[in-house]
Amino acid sequence: MARIVQKYGGTSVGDVERIKKVAERVKLTRDDGNEVVVVVSARSGVTNELIARAKAISDAPSEREMDMLLAVGEQETIALTAMALHALGVPAVSFTGAQAGILTNDAHTRAKIQTITPKQIEEALKQDKVVIVAGFQGINAAGQLTTLGRGGSDLTAIALAAPLKADKCEIYTDVDGVYTADPRIVKTAQKIDEISYDEMLELASSGSKVMQSRSVEFAKKYGVVFEVRSSFNHNPGTIVKEEVSYMEKVVVRGVAVDKDQAKVTVSNIADKPGSAAKVFRALADANVIVDMIVQNVGRNGVANLSFTVPQVDSKKAQQTLAPVLVEIGGGNVTIQEDIAKLSVVGVGMKTHSGVAATLFQTLADANVNIDMITTSEIKISVVISSERVDEAARIAHKVFGLDA
Ligand code: ASP
Ligand code: MG
Repeated sequence: MARIVQKYGGTSVGDVERIKKVAERVKLTRDDGNEVVVVVSARSGVTNELIARAKAISDAPSEREMDMLLAVGEQETIALTAMALHALGVPAVSFTGAQAGILTNDAHTRAKIQTITPKQIEEALKQDKVVIVAGFQGINAAGQLTTLGRGGSDLTAIALAAPLKADKCEIYTDVDGVYTADPRIVKTAQKIDEISYDEMLELASSGSKVMQSRSVEFAKKYGVVFEVRSSFNHNPGTIVKEEVSYMEKVVVRGVAVDKDQAKVTVSNIADKPGSAAKVFRALADANVIVDMIVQNVGRNGVANLSFTVPQVDSKKAQQTLAPVLVEIGGGNVTIQEDIAKLSVVGVGMKTHSGVAATLFQTLADANVNIDMITTSEIKISVVISSERVDEAARIAHKVFGLDA
């Protein structure tokens, strides 16, 4: 007998028919003699709809009331999933985050999990019941309902797997797993059988969003091995776990494209200590996330800085920087939105040389100009024209041996 945590995302519980299908899958798992704890998201679209309603009433709704509102989505699906199991003759009970013993800090709408004491879950499992837990929510020390930030149901599942000492944690979604590239862009992309936490995180930050990044970080910290797989078929998915030596044999695990970035150039700023600090402090204070940064060599006492930000924040970056430039003695800001980021990721890069050279040569051969470059131990990213990025991804995918 094994203990299995299964998480079903919004599309997997998207309507009543799908909820019935989830119940059937849960029943199969239980019939095999397993203890099953199920975490569900809200039906897809529901959380967004609730947010839209709040915004229609107030520009700045109270965060406590936002949590109260958004937690509704998951409470609908836990109850319906429990009922669907009952209809199949399976004993099941649903729990809110609080009943599941998920204690968080006080940060409404983005709470952090502090401890989990799954007493009611253990008792229900002992009574041979399937347990259904509302994802994305918890309770703070003062007894107030909190939510864990968008996509937080993944975190609920991963975080529960640890104190429950689950043998398996399965994240069910609408894709078959993690792919070597976005199959909509690269037709030859293949499902990856095993990937390390770090590779998964780098691919996510480069635009391949399968799961909430925080939940992958949490899994890494607590050593929770999990599988990302589809709820629409029975194909094996992608196992995500700590890096093991054989993973290094594959130099590049995947290629990712991020078209949601904009390039900001701050030109003609005083080339003196403190200029860059002031620019990036102001952006940080405005909660603008800066990704790649390039500074050119200062000439005639002035320098240029270029960096990327999420496209949605490019106007905000421009507005934030206007007064800063006045303060540091001039300069101007330009925004370029027709750029995209191409990344190649793999733990094998730690032990193989020449990956950057190969990537750059490949792009050169295709006459694709590289605008910016950043590297980490396991990732090389370049900023190129958004018009060429899909093609560049296909070429890189092939060159690094990822084509089927
Ligand atoms: N329902 C929440 C959201 O849409 C949590 C989740 O689905 O993971 O962000
Ligand atoms: Mg989700």
